[in-house]
Amino acid sequence: MGTRGASAVTIKRPVEIERMRAAGRILAGILDVLEAELRDGMTTGELDEIAARMIRDAGATSSFKGYGSNPPFPGVICASVNDEVVHGIPSPRRRLVTGDLVSIDIGCIVDGWHADCARTWTVGSVPHGVQQLIDATRRGMEAGIAAAVPGNHLGDIGHAIESVAHEHGYGIVRPFVGHGIGRAMHEEPQVPNYGRPGAGMLVEAGMCFAIEPMFNLGGDDVRVADDGWTVRTADGALSAHFENTIAVSADGPELLTVCADAN
Ligand code: MG
Repeated sequence: MGTRGASAVTIKRPVEIERMRAAGRILAGILDVLEAELRDGMTTGELDEIAARMIRDAGATSSFKGYGSNPPFPGVICASVNDEVVHGIPSPRRRLVTGDLVSIDIGCIVDGWHADCARTWTVGSVPHGVQQLIDATRRGMEAGIAAAVPGNHLGDIGHAIESVAHEHGYGIVRPFVGHGIGRAMHEEPQVPNYGRPGAGMLVEAGMCFAIEPMFNLGGDDVRVADDGWTVRTADGALSAHFENTIAVSADGPELLTVCADAN
């Protein structure tokens, strides 16, 4: 989930990062299952049910369900299809078909500590240009994460992300941004998906960020739907979204939203 920000920047202790790592492992495991289950005819409500059961079975709680007040978010996942950018509400009435692009965002809490993670997949095969958008958005996330090293600034992260989008001429979503994460899903600082090298807050070891570019096949602009949540591209073009939660260490960024065998 993206945000406009809240609360203060905190430096996390190793024991706190360990809880976020546990939350992140749960999310990575759930996303692996959802990716394997995804098929033509499935509803986004079914994906939400699988995720809700897995969060419960892991002894964690959802970061998303009940979040906010516009109205409270009803799902444990956001499921954003095609021109939906982020914050799509999962529904038993939203049936996926071959050729759809679907972005799944999920967050959970372990012992009071959050992790937040998103992936974009397709149902069956899609035109090359659509797959390219997805691959570039993932690379944008990876470039942003690689720039999250002590001594860099937040502008370096945003610039790294933005540069990947510019290579392809993709739109970059600006009103929704990455964020600090820890005891709250959304903490300061905001981590925009654009920026100037050397600008903004200094990145320090112990900071934890959710880095989450959203790239559009068309322009930058987005609109929030009447349901109070679903964000769509203004021009109806497809959009992709990737997100990992990371901890900045002296050695560089550590991915927290990965399976145990990935570290
Ligand atoms: Mg997020």
